[in-house]
Amino acid sequence: MTNKTTWFEEIWSPEGSSFSLEVSELLHTEQSDYQKIDIYKTTHWGNLMVLDGCYMVTDRDNFLYHEMMTHPVLFTHPDPKKVLVIGGGDCGALKEVLKHPTVKEAWQVEIDERVTRVSEEYFPDLCDSNNDTRANFYFGDGIAWLKERPANSLDVIIIDSTDPVGPAAGLFNREFLGECLRALNTNGVLVQQSESPLFHSNTLIKDLHTELKAAGFTSLKTLPFPQPIYPSGWWSCTMASKDLDVTQFRASDAENKVFDTQYYNYGIHLGALCTPEFMKKALD
Ligand code: SAM
Repeated sequence: MTNKTTWFEEIWSPEGSSFSLEVSELLHTEQSDYQKIDIYKTTHWGNLMVLDGCYMVTDRDNFLYHEMMTHPVLFTHPDPKKVLVIGGGDCGALKEVLKHPTVKEAWQVEIDERVTRVSEEYFPDLCDSNNDTRANFYFGDGIAWLKERPANSLDVIIIDSTDPVGPAAGLFNREFLGECLRALNTNGVLVQQSESPLFHSNTLIKDLHTELKAAGFTSLKTLPFPQPIYPSGWWSCTMASKDLDVTQFRASDAENKVFDTQYYNYGIHLGALCTPEFMKKALD
């Protein structure tokens, strides 16, 4: 690609839709052991990361996803100290986790080290907490890592994965979710990225609820939020716990949060707990 601009399009054929960004330069491309990693410079959205042809992150809108994948679950747990992020190689979720002063130790377990190394170069803002002494990195399969983890040793698990294909497929089934439950301490909470409310309420989100219940989780809630670059422009995360009611959270701490966010606040959290009617029909 020269300096001429062109459009990078992700086609979502099951729903007859696509999303395009105007790009001016291909900054980086490689085939890692796990996936094709492309970084584009866009004209209006900063840098863009694409994995196997799917939009992952832009400078402009990643805050929506990363804040909603972290702050609701961390304000749901009464005192989150030990936090695991599975996937999340761009480090954006980890950065938000480390904003919580209660957190003493955080692990990012990403299967593809190249995603993190490329993010350090092209998304330095997302990686600017990587030297925090509380942060620990392991590059390998999150499923295998969790199996080795002692029981009752984590407060919060954040599954920030790619779509459920390839190495991420096993992150959505009851066997893996059961391992999560085993590793969670009393009052432990899990959150899983759960795709588009519009496109996946009757499929992936419904199936995820079934798998979470089969694994032993009793309180579940799917929180929708905007995400312009993902299919339908609307995304979700699903929280689950065995001990806590995940519709309750530390409202006062959220209202008086001691760190900056760009999207998340107390009212956004409250609003995200309101389930749209069509989703209630699909999930109840
Ligand atoms: N925000 C993104 C989205 O929803 O499209 C996901 C961000 S992050 C880049 C997803 C990461 O999950 C990828 O870097 C991928 O390598 C990682 N991943 C997929 N399967 C995994 C597994 N089994 N264990 C650990 N990491 C995994």
